[in-house]
Parts: sequence; structure tokens; C-alpha cells
Amino acid sequence: MATHKVDLLIVGAGPTGLGAALRLLELGETNFLVLEAAQEPGGLASSVKDPKGFTWDLGGHVQFSHYEVFDRYMDLALGKDGWLRHVRESWIWMRERFIPYPFQYNLHRLPKEEKWACVQGLLKASRDGKWQPRNFKEWILHTFGEGVAEAFLFPYNFKVWGYPLERIGQQWMGDRVAVPHIEKVLAGICLEQDQASWGPNHTFRFPKHGGTGAVWRSLAKKLPEEKLKVSKRVVSVNTEKRVVELDRGETYEYESLISSMPLDRLIEMSDRTDLAQEASRLLYSSIHIFGVGLEGKTPEHLRTKCWMYFPENNCPFYRVTVFSNYSPFNTPRPGETWSLMAEVAQSPYKPVNVEAIFDEVIEGLVATKLIRPADQIISRWHRFLHHGYPTPSVDRDEILERVLRELEKVNLFSRGRFGAWKYEVSNQDHSFMQGWECVDRILSGNREACEPTLNVPSKVNAEYNKRQEFIHHA
Ligand SMILES: Cc1cc2nc3c(=O)[nH]c(=O)nc-3n(C[C@H](O)[C@H](O)[C@H](O)COP(=O)(O)OP(=O)(O)OC[C@H]3O[C@@H](n4cnc5c(N)ncnc54)[C@H](O)[C@@H]3O)c2cc1C
Repeated sequence: MATHKVDLLIVGAGPTGLGAALRLLELGETNFLVLEAAQEPGGLASSVKDPKGFTWDLGGHVQFSHYEVFDRYMDLALGKDGWLRHVRESWIWMRERFIPYPFQYNLHRLPKEEKWACVQGLLKASRDGKWQPRNFKEWILHTFGEGVAEAFLFPYNFKVWGYPLERIGQQWMGDRVAVPHIEKVLAGICLEQDQASWGPNHTFRFPKHGGTGAVWRSLAKKLPEEKLKVSKRVVSVNTEKRVVELDRGETYEYESLISSMPLDRLIEMSDRTDLAQEASRLLYSSIHIFGVGLEGKTPEHLRTKCWMYFPENNCPFYRVTVFSNYSPFNTPRPGETWSLMAEVAQSPYKPVNVEAIFDEVIEGLVATKLIRPADQIISRWHRFLHHGYPTPSVDRDEILERVLRELEKVNLFSRGRFGAWKYEVSNQDHSFMQGWECVDRILSGNREACEPTLNVPSKVNAEYNKRQEFIHHA
């Protein structure tokens, strides 16, 4: 079998790998190659058209952006006209009613005893300033108090993460969870007003045609054809000799390697047995995605909703997206058909009965009044994502610090959603920029300055990051 040689090898053509490749192209570097195991680029941000003509993402993907650079590439991918713009409308279904998200600012919609329990907890929490929470469970109690925790945050977060909340850290939160202002909470209750569009990201864009995957298919086409090879699965990495081997025996020698494979798998297939024990302690959950295509028009009560959270036990899913609201072209006959996409988490603490789960999802959609028993389902689509969510476990940062640093010593850069395993910077914009920034890092040798997404997530997430200049010290 032939051995190929390349300066910079990139494994994976998801957002991270494509971000790296496009940055190299932008800088005029030509000695690189992307290897992708699947038949198409896109990774977890791919989309699928099912046999009935419904388009599905692998979980409801919305395009938020913290970066000017990312927005520039999004415009390049689909042009200004290839997008639909939406106002985020997210809801929680509980106690037989919809409550706008975020929960804590919309307590007026709760039954009165529960409303009072939530307020009592929030008041107590606001006075307990000093103690330092050790994990996510304590952080929730400390920040929101018992009422909000028991009613929504505890059950919902277990459903979504699939792990006891004591095992999850609090380092990842940043701007993801709205820390309550007591005055605003009380105003919501007294004035009986919904407060729906909280915080950053209250609008987003979505591809008019082809689902989220259309973005990555288009960006992959910007690369010269010979720079991206699909159906090429890496099966072993020799970090000492700097050689990767593919499933069909081909080998590639590299100077530097950017890998967007899950970090635990990368270590398993490498010669770094010294890191195996640590990498195996990284936690993750798997996700089942269920697409349900329906005949008819979107029901009135779902017409403007984007996605909904489900903390209760009357359904297996934690979230459902009205996917036809993102684009009518996600259905085969726009206006005459509509679609829902449900997500169910699976973990060692939260097993899923695969045989029964789709029926349970349908029953759950009926129980939560999203569909009626008489509704005509014309498509049922399922996909299992083995690595779905990188769990921000209590000891995650300590593990990553050692494993990523050790790999970097041998010019191996593990980046992206599961490459770097940092949930707080694992969306498409973050992943793309991790690849993009990693190239700058490799070419300049400057770790801190060049990789803000990986190294200072809270700073990156706190602002809209204007174009960074390339720092070239080499
Ligand atoms: C349920 C769900 C909902 C999400 N919602 C959103 C959202 O609303 N907004 C948002 O921005 N992001 C969302 N994301 C995150 C988004 O999917 C990721 O940010 C993005 O796909 C990560 O890019 P990546 O390149 O790091 O990893 P991936 O997309 O996982 O790409 C890695 C690539 O590496 C390839 N690969 C793996 N192993 C090998 C191998 N051995 N050899 C060769 N190639 C290999 C894979 O085939 C894949 O193409 C969501 C993700 C999930 C799972």
C-alpha cells in the first residue's frame, strides 16, 4: 500500500476540519489534506433527506454565531438569499401548559403553590451569597433555590445530560443559563407578563434548502477536490512516527495532525497507552434523533414555536423542534405537510429500550399534545448518535489539560466538539473556529494568543468576536 506524505493532515470534515482547511486555503497553504470516514462532509452538522422527502438535521441545529469570521463563511456558504431568519421562540411544556423559556422569568404561568415555592427558593438563594458550589447540582440550588430546581432544572437536566448532576461541573455555564434577577422574576409574576426573548442569540438563521448540512456541503466544495477525501476511515495513529493508517491499509505521514475524532477514540487507536486511562474517564451521552413527518398544516399552537423542552416523565424526549418551522422546504410538500424532531438522551445512568423507544416517542408527542392520535404520520425517521453530548464532568478540565497538552507535544491537535470535549465551545461556530484558530496556532506556535475558543471559552462566549488577525511568528 502506498504511503502518502503531507505537512498538515486533518481528520474529519465536520465544522472543525472544514474550518481548519478553509483557513489554510485562505492563507495560501497547499500542503494539507482532509480525510473523512463518511461519504459526505458535515459530521454531526449533516442533514438527511428520508425516503418520504422530509429533511432532517441530526438534532435541531440553529445557527448562532459568536464570530464575525464564522458569519462571513456562512454568507459565503449559502449567499445572503440562501437563509431564512427566525426569532427564537423556545418553550417548556409542563403541568399541562406551555411556559416560555427561561423558566424563572415566567413563573406566573405556574400553579400558585408552585409559584410560591419557586419564589421562596429564589429569595433564599439570593441571600446565600458565600458558599462555593462543588458541582452542577449545588450550583443550581445555590443560584435558583429549591423550588425552581425541583420543578424544572433538576428533572430537565437529568433528562438532557443523562448523568447525576453531582457528576457534572459548573465550569461550562458562561452565558448558557440565565442567572435570575429577583426583581425581574417578581415583575413577571406581579404583572403576569411573559418574558420570552432572554439573553444572547434571540434570532438565528437557517438554510432555506437542504437543512444545516447544506452549509457544510457547500463549504466543502470551496476546497480543491484533491484536498478532501471522503470514505477514508482512520483506524490507527502512530504519534511517534507521525503516521496514520486507514481501514483499507493506506498510510499517511504528517508533520502536524488536527483530529476532530472523539478524543477517547483517538487515544484508543493510538500508541499513547499512557493516556488511555485518563481519556476513558471522559463522560459523554448518546442521542437518539426521531423525525416525525405529518400530513396537513402545522397546528395553530405550534405555528411560531422553534423548540420546546420537556422536563416531565410523560414523554421520553427532552426537546422537540418544530423542524418545518425552520424551513417549509424541510418537508416534501410545503404548506401541506409539517414535521417534528425529538431528541432522547442515553447514558449508563439512563438506558433506552431501543425496541420500544420510537413508539414511546409517538405516545409522548400525544401525551404532550403536540400531535393528536388521529394525526396522519407519513414518515418515521431515526438516527442514533453514539457520541452526542460531551459531558462537562467535574474532573473534565483536569483530564483535558493533561491529555491535550501531551498530544500537542507530538504535534497532534485534537479539536472540535468531541476532539476538545468542551461542551461550552462545541456548537458549529465554535467548532469551525477551533479548526480555524488551530491552524493559526500551528503556523505561529503561539498557543494562548491563537486559540481563544479552546483556551478562554467564557471570554469568547461573552462577546461577538470581531475578526482576529493572523499572528505569524514562524
Ligand atoms: C443533538 C445535537 C444538537 C445540536 N444542536 C446544535 C445547534 O443547535 N447549533 C449548533 O451550532 N450546533 C449544534 N450541535 C453541534 C454541532 O453538530 C457540532 O458543533 C459540530 O458538528 C461539531 O463539529 P466537529 O467537526 O467538531 O465534529 P463532527 O461534526 O462530529 O465531525 C467529526 C467528523 O470526523 C469524522 N470522523 C470520525 N472518526 C473518523 C475516523 N476514524 N476517520 C475519519 N473521519 C472520522 C466524522 O465522520 C465527522 O464527519 C448539535 C449537536 C448535536 C449532537
